[in-house]
Amino acid sequence: QCITHCPVGALRERDDTEQVFDALGDPERICLVQIAPAVRTAWGETFGLAPGQATVERLAAALRMVGFDYIFDTSFSADLTIMEEASELLERLKRAGESGEHPTFPMFTSCCPGWVRYVKDHYPELVDQLSTSKSPQQMFGAIAKTYYAQALGVDPSKIFSVSIMPCVAKKAEAALPSMTGADGAPDVDVALTVREVCRMVKACHIDVAKLDDEPLDQPLGTHTGAGVAFGSTGGVMDAALRSAYYFATGERCDADAFSDVRGMDGWKEATFTMGDKALKVAVVHGLANARNLLDALKSGEVGYDFVEVMACPGGCVGGGGQPIHDGMELAGERGEVLWGLDRSSNLRRSYENPAIQMCYADYLGAPLSERAEELLHTDQRAWTMPGEREECL
Ligand code: SF4
Repeated sequence: QCITHCPVGALRERDDTEQVFDALGDPERICLVQIAPAVRTAWGETFGLAPGQATVERLAAALRMVGFDYIFDTSFSADLTIMEEASELLERLKRAGESGEHPTFPMFTSCCPGWVRYVKDHYPELVDQLSTSKSPQQMFGAIAKTYYAQALGVDPSKIFSVSIMPCVAKKAEAALPSMTGADGAPDVDVALTVREVCRMVKACHIDVAKLDDEPLDQPLGTHTGAGVAFGSTGGVMDAALRSAYYFATGERCDADAFSDVRGMDGWKEATFTMGDKALKVAVVHGLANARNLLDALKSGEVGYDFVEVMACPGGCVGGGGQPIHDGMELAGERGEVLWGLDRSSNLRRSYENPAIQMCYADYLGAPLSERAEELLHTDQRAWTMPGEREECL
């Protein structure tokens, strides 16, 4: 987990709230904000709200008062990530099948920048095993400044794209030279932590307890339960398998068919049948578990087709950008909130999201299309690890 309150003061958390307030005050800018899935489990803790009161819709109401023009949900682009990542997994397995060689190492998820940087730093020989799919934060930014700018009829340079993340490493991810549009502008202009956005709400003297829920904006506010579960350990794997199953077999699976990958065990593994193939998967959270898994893979003790890794214990719900309560570990509790939202959702498979279907029909074509590759995928080797480590991760 990111250390944001370093006891010796060697690590600093960057505060980007002034930059966002400046953009909000600029009449030439259109300010839109995406809210990551895990944020809804924790933002209300800062204001003493009970979990049932701290809805993402109440946060949307607060953000409108702060001055954002459009409030969207990163769970939308989590669904988009699943469309691309599940397709990529099947494509890799197909290629391996055609060449007659079973891949030595699995495909790893790549939506956690803490994990991506860990691989690049400590296991550079495995970088090509990382999925090329961008994270939901970055896919959202890319779509906001292309598809959505086109829908609004505005020049993408007018859009100021902000994300609210449970994560400090997302700031570094948004700043990567590979996470830009064709014009060189960043897909995400500023990534805020939950703590920063709560400070902004307080600075605006907004009494969140008195706000009513307000709907998110459309179409980038529409999401499935699979997209919301992304914020908990096992959520990416579970969501990806629900869609991969459909892509591989043409059949709609039980949304709870892959529940063996859920829960707080540090290293989970399961085998599922997908068409004529047995797919062996693993889920780890926390970098110590990731190291153990990688070493076991390298020594040949274990073998998988697909592995999810989240750097923070419990996944993003336990991220370093969430409110901190000394001595309390809330990741398990917060994760249950997300699984509950998934279970109560009418839509639980990413490919069923009507806004995703529209985005592909009107703009992207199909998963892994030329445009999807250009906007939604990245070359994990396109940047090198910075020499300095002033900030966390
Ligand atoms: Fe960030 Fe932690 Fe989530 Fe990784 S697991 S994306 S480091 S909050």
